[in-house]
Amino acid sequence: MSLSQALQAARELHSQLPALREFAPWPGDLQPAALAPAAMPALDQVAGFGQPGTAETQPLINALRNSASQAYWTQTYTEEEVGAHFLQNYGYFELFGPTGHFRTNQLRGYIAYWGAGLKYDWHSHEAEELYVVLGGGAQFLTDENDCWLSAGDTRLHGGWQPHAMNTGDQPILTYVLWRGAGLEGLPLMGGQRASAA
Ligand code: ZN
Repeated sequence: MSLSQALQAARELHSQLPALREFAPWPGDLQPAALAPAAMPALDQVAGFGQPGTAETQPLINALRNSASQAYWTQTYTEEEVGAHFLQNYGYFELFGPTGHFRTNQLRGYIAYWGAGLKYDWHSHEAEELYVVLGGGAQFLTDENDCWLSAGDTRLHGGWQPHAMNTGDQPILTYVLWRGAGLEGLPLMGGQRASAA
């Protein structure tokens, strides 16, 4: 199955979740790009992702399970920053955006996966960000707030707002939108919590 089905499922989800619609309109200028697949160690975990979604998120989970091998998976961090275990159990790809499988400069849509038992340390970035938990769950942390998010839950991070995430006994599959200034930047890890305070 191709990533076109994942894009269609994301578009459908966008029309169904108010938090997504309020964050940004669905991009009107999407163009498919010839982006060759790139595997990652946790590819099989995504292809076999077994945590249930909601009625709204399950179609995108299903599409991602079927098309995970077609994605250009990326890891922003190095082994020195996060350790080898983290890199064996995490990865993301840009479904649409300036460098994604479908090109647009209006919005960025990532699919990001973390396995169970991971600690994603404090980091921040210029772009505003909306997380949608497709399936599984994790503890999401900001300076003001600390809560467990499950399938269908959303979380908004402001520009340069430091945030962190911990998975527990289950993995998490997320759909993440970026908007505004810094659309093309990458998350920075370490020291950001203090500098952004
Ligand atoms: Zn973020």
